[in-house]
Amino acid sequence: MSTPAISVHNLYRYFGTLKAVNGVTFEIPKGSVCGFVGANGAGKTTTMRILASLDYPTLGTAEICGYNVVSHPEEVRRLIGWMPDHFGNYEHMTVVEYLDFYARALGYKGKERRQRVQEVMDFTDLGPLAERFSNKLSKGNTQRLGLGRALLQDPEVLVMDEPAAGLDPKARVELKSLIRVLANEGKTIFISSHILSELGEMCDSLLFINGGRIVHHGDAQSMMQETDVTGGLLYDVQILGDAESLSAWCLLHPKVEFLESRKQGGRIRIESNAIDDSAEILHRMIKDGLRVVEFHREQRNLEDAFIDMLGKIDRGEIAGKTPPQMPTTPAFNPPTL
Ligand code: ATP
Repeated sequence: MSTPAISVHNLYRYFGTLKAVNGVTFEIPKGSVCGFVGANGAGKTTTMRILASLDYPTLGTAEICGYNVVSHPEEVRRLIGWMPDHFGNYEHMTVVEYLDFYARALGYKGKERRQRVQEVMDFTDLGPLAERFSNKLSKGNTQRLGLGRALLQDPEVLVMDEPAAGLDPKARVELKSLIRVLANEGKTIFISSHILSELGEMCDSLLFINGGRIVHHGDAQSMMQETDVTGGLLYDVQILGDAESLSAWCLLHPKVEFLESRKQGGRIRIESNAIDDSAEILHRMIKDGLRVVEFHREQRNLEDAFIDMLGKIDRGEIAGKTPPQMPTTPAFNPPTL
C-alpha cells in the first residue's frame, strides 16, 4: 500500500489545560480530497497548523507523505502548500512582487522563478492584477493570491483553512473550480469549511472533528446515513399570516417537529416516512386554520447531518465524546517556537 499523503496518529495539542486536539488519528490517501468539518473551536486550525509544521504537537505523530512534521519540517514544507484562513500582506508590494518574494524564499532563481510566478498567476487568473497592491485586493482576489502563494512550489499536498470564508457566490464557484482542477491533477487536498454543501460536492471523504476528537471519517453519504437517527420526511411549509402560528401548531402535534423558521413559515420534520401521513398532517394544518400556500418536500442535506451529529454527541451516543487519557510520557520534547 502506498504511503498516505497525510497520516496522523494519536495527536494531542494542549494549550495549558485546553485540549484543542485530543487524541486524533486519521489517514488521507494520495490524490484524494478530504473536507475537514467541525464547529467553531473544534480543533481544525490547530490540526492543520501542525500538519503545516507551524506548531508542535504536545504528543503524537503527524506525517506528510511519510515525513514527520517535527523531525523533517523542511521536507514537509517542500511537499505542502499551506493556505491559512488569514494571512498578512505587505504594504506597497504588488501582486507580482508578493509572489516573487515567496518564490525567492522557496529558492527559485532567475528565469525559473519568473516562469513559476507567471504560471501561478495564469492558473489563479491574477495576471490582470499583477501590478495592483497586494494589500488592496478584494476578498476573492486576496484568496486567489493566498492560493497562488500556496501553489508556488507545486506542492503534492494542499492544506486549506476556510478558503471560501467571506467569498461571494461567484468567487466561491471560481475557487471550487480551481480546487477541482488541482484535484484532477492528482494533488491531495485537505480543506476545512463551514459551507458543507460545497464540501459534499467536491470531497471524497469528510473528517468530522468535535472537541478535539474525530467523530466521523467517511464519504458524505455515510455521514448522512450514520446521523439519520430520527428518520421521517422534511418539508418546507409556507403560510399566509402569522408565521409563528406554524411553530405553535407543531408544538401541539408530537409527530411533527419544527426545525427552523423561514420567511413565511418554516422547515418541519414529520416523524413518519409514509407519504399518507404527510398528507394527513397537511390536511390537519389546513383544518386547524393554517393558510398553507406551499408544502414542499426537502431532501436531508449535510447541514442536517452536521446538526444531527452534534445532537448524537450531546446525547453521548458517539465514542469521540469520551477521549482516552493522554499518555503521561511525551514522545519528544519539542523546542519552543
Ligand atoms: P474555527 O472554525 O472557529 O476556526 P477551529 O476548529 O479551527 O475553529 P481551533 O482554532 O483549532 O478551532 O481552536 C481549537 C481551540 O483551541 C479553541 O478553543 C481555541 O480557542 C484554542 N486555541 C487555538 N490556538 C490557541 C493558542 N495559541 N493558545 C490558546 N488556545 C488556543
